[in-house]
Amino acid sequence: LIQEPNKNIYLDNNATTKVDDRVIAEILPFMTELFLNPSSRYVQVNEITKKIVEEKSRISNYLGVDNENEIVFTSGATESINLSISSLSELLSNKGKHIITSPTEHKAMLDILGSLAKVGYEIEYLSVDADGLIDVLELEQKIRQDTIIVSIMFCNNETGVIQPIKQIGEIAKDKNVAFFSDATQAFGKLYLDASYFGIDILCFSAHKFHGPKGVGGIFCNSALISTKIGNKLFDKFIKMIKIAGTTNVPGIIGLGKALEISVSDMDLNLTHITELRDRFEAQILKNCSGVTVNGNSKNRIYNTINLCFKNRDVEPILNGYLGVLASNGSACNSFSEKPSHVLKSMGLSDEEANSSIRFSFSKYNTSEEVEKASDIIIKYFRNLE
Ligand code: PLP
Repeated sequence: LIQEPNKNIYLDNNATTKVDDRVIAEILPFMTELFLNPSSRYVQVNEITKKIVEEKSRISNYLGVDNENEIVFTSGATESINLSISSLSELLSNKGKHIITSPTEHKAMLDILGSLAKVGYEIEYLSVDADGLIDVLELEQKIRQDTIIVSIMFCNNETGVIQPIKQIGEIAKDKNVAFFSDATQAFGKLYLDASYFGIDILCFSAHKFHGPKGVGGIFCNSALISTKIGNKLFDKFIKMIKIAGTTNVPGIIGLGKALEISVSDMDLNLTHITELRDRFEAQILKNCSGVTVNGNSKNRIYNTINLCFKNRDVEPILNGYLGVLASNGSACNSFSEKPSHVLKSMGLSDEEANSSIRFSFSKYNTSEEVEKASDIIIKYFRNLE
């Protein structure tokens, strides 16, 4: 049953996306004639340094801020999360050690918070409802004098659910608590004005929007940088990044180009992908009885759906045997036997979580693929009946 790679239908675009050909073309010179290390002293590196600053400006513009110094490049969202949360928690530890988050955060966030818990930080998890949403009133009530960070992701990678970020930002500002948002799934797909949403720090990763793997970054709001803590934080980021080694020039150039393309095609992509996603969802719900949608269908990013095929064996799909590639959540969790922590915290049983599949769509998916994929899945489940 296993298909040739070019015959597979990829509905797993939250995990990673195909690199855009225009991104590859942009990267190539920086791996050939423009290969110098930008940290070297030659005047010849000026062109490369200038291009890196331009990519930072592109990101700042996209985030609606005008200071390219607010951007730090990393190897991806996991490193961004680790760097931001460990540095912030250390710098703010004089004020307190209480951090508020949600149980549906990405494993990268839960892991670093788990490590902090072992060294004396108190991590408080908000509840989420059956739709996967946090309650902003609960957040407001839980903030204390010693609360230092509120960390809530923008869009969930398993369900696509979008949290009430603007309200969270307002509460955090009002209570003088730093607001970190893991925007990995939103960056490059949604309009993301950091000030509008009141986000102090956010992270992103290029392979989620048709850029290369292994490059991402941190945005740190200048309002925060201008405070004593922010200044120190920024110094710390820069130091850590320098320790991390030689600048990933091709990666940064690729990230910038991928963002440029994503921003210019954002409305187009939104229309195309929403249509595909909705059509696929409608076909499956109409033709497979008892299938339910996990997560709030209104506050949900346009490329993602998570469906529960209760009491049915979804393993052949998750293993790729049907040639429709979709996963049960984050790539980082797909080898674990455990049911999804995201779905569990939304109230699903182990069995329900284990029979759920996340489908995620990209600009490269076509109507024909969506028709074919839904046919294959419908036939597969009908044969099981
Ligand atoms: N956060 C979210 C929401 C993600 O979806 C991912 C990727 O799966 C990560 C963090 C980790 O990103 P990276 O692979 O760039 O380390």
